[in-house]
Amino acid sequence: MTESTQTADFIRDIIAHDLENRVNDGRLQTRFPPEPNGYLHIGHAKSICLNFGVAAENPGGRCNLRFDDTNPEKEDVEYVDSIQEDVRWLGFDWEERKFYASDYFEPLYGFAEELILKGKAYVCDLSANDMREYRGTLTEPGRESPFRERSVEENLDLFRRMRAGEFPDGARVLRARIDMASPNMNMRDPALYRIRRVEHHRTGNDWVIYPTYDYAHGISDALECVTHSLCTLEFEDHRPLYDWILDQLDLPCRPRQIEFSRLSLEYTVMSKRKLNALVQSGVVSGWDDPRMPTISGLRRRGYTPEAIREFCRCIGISKSPNRVEHALLENCLRSDLETRSPRTMAVLRPLKVVIDSLPEGYEEALTVPVHPQNEAMGRRMIHFTREIYIEQEDFRESAPKQYKRLVTGGEVRLRNAYVIRCREAVKDPVSGEICELRCEHDPATLNANPVGRKVQGVIHWVSASRCVSGEVRLYAPLFTVPEPDALKGEIVEQVNPDSIEVLNGCRFEPELAEAQGSLPYQFERLGYFHRDRDAVPGCPVFNRAVGLRDAWSKIEQRL
Ligand code: ATP
Ligand code: MG
Repeated sequence: MTESTQTADFIRDIIAHDLENRVNDGRLQTRFPPEPNGYLHIGHAKSICLNFGVAAENPGGRCNLRFDDTNPEKEDVEYVDSIQEDVRWLGFDWEERKFYASDYFEPLYGFAEELILKGKAYVCDLSANDMREYRGTLTEPGRESPFRERSVEENLDLFRRMRAGEFPDGARVLRARIDMASPNMNMRDPALYRIRRVEHHRTGNDWVIYPTYDYAHGISDALECVTHSLCTLEFEDHRPLYDWILDQLDLPCRPRQIEFSRLSLEYTVMSKRKLNALVQSGVVSGWDDPRMPTISGLRRRGYTPEAIREFCRCIGISKSPNRVEHALLENCLRSDLETRSPRTMAVLRPLKVVIDSLPEGYEEALTVPVHPQNEAMGRRMIHFTREIYIEQEDFRESAPKQYKRLVTGGEVRLRNAYVIRCREAVKDPVSGEICELRCEHDPATLNANPVGRKVQGVIHWVSASRCVSGEVRLYAPLFTVPEPDALKGEIVEQVNPDSIEVLNGCRFEPELAEAQGSLPYQFERLGYFHRDRDAVPGCPVFNRAVGLRDAWSKIEQRL
């Protein structure tokens, strides 16, 4: 698809203004700072498209990838790897600018000593409970810690001994010395360092104290000479602390934090804690389960980077709540695939049709376009044979006139081939179910209506002798309510049990046995389907990425 150009938003306006006024020497440096404690999701894509996008739009603009790895309990190299794969797949490149907050552990420690020397930080021995109590509430000011007036020498000595591992976990913290009466709770002497004997995925057991997010983030930004630190609105109340820390220290650059609203998407959840719970419980098959809102899940489902980028462009950047209809995401994929997906025919719930007007073993090769509007995509060959499969739901023994498909005694056009008439529906003598249709074809109707009559219905089909069987997985949203975050109770128990339907014995055109293309196929009349990695030779597996129309909104009306 041709990508539309980015429209302005309040962040781009600020950046344009700063560049014009040569703030920070007219440099533009952004960063995308994921914590490697889970896989990236579509919300992260919004932040990636903003940070990398705005850097690419401005000459000389750069964007760093920075792993915000200050919380070793929940972090892992598996996540570091997946994050890089996902950012690259989305089409962005950090080149040599990949950093880790853990690269700065030594300088961060040095800056903490500097704060102590300036009387701006102290070691506090209050227990976690007492600290919470001393902190006050939104309506009551906090109380000063009894350790707040420790001398610089004592603080320095204790902090060095914290680093040296002399105290047990949680026994002491280093706190900023700001204002216990501040109306902003974040300014009430927040913790800067905690003692935690946890192995870090990069620094191993080198450290037993770890910096807090608030302490590490602004300094990391400044060390990387970030000019615009773009983050989501929940950090708005942290901005005074971000600025306070930078004000105390002598740093190479003065970044500016600007907040925008988080993306949330209907019928799914976006918090990594909840997504992790789904993965750990096994209700989904993993982070890349095609029902997940993760980048890897969307990729496996059949989403393209182009569709996700277009989605991010459509939702825009602002400070107002950003709850987006699921249909918008689906529409972005549909309009991307509409123009470039190869077409094929597949039958998901097969019903055998015998065309008695053809001799045994009859085969007619037909060449048909791979894409009806795009000749450049070439042609493919299909085979018209005596036995074919059609979709069970494309036949009724009798039906009202509005039913434009096949009925006993009626006619229908087989897509890309002939008109057939159904003589008889053969039933299984035991179950009474229809097991086969006996039909005749009209040889004068290949891709043309017979003179004097118009056959309105067109159905898809697959040759019974020239096909492969395989599996198709159909998906519905993970949750049946638009705002699953508002549900009470365990998230795992709220998952829509009908969010996946697995169909076996589906019939595909033979070339789909080996199909390796990166783009999903359009299965005519059924939607866009992407080959799953569970496929084995001879047995393809396809995920339905999205239907042809917005079927879900219709289902929703009936719920
Ligand atoms: P979660 O709450 O899911 O754990 P997080 O904010 O802790 O998410 P990070 O890894 O810290 O996840 O996020 C990296 C960057 O992506 C941050 O700048 C964050 O603001 C941004 N981000 C995370 N979720 C969203 C979202 N839903 N919409 C927009 N940006 C997001
Ligand atoms: Mg975070």
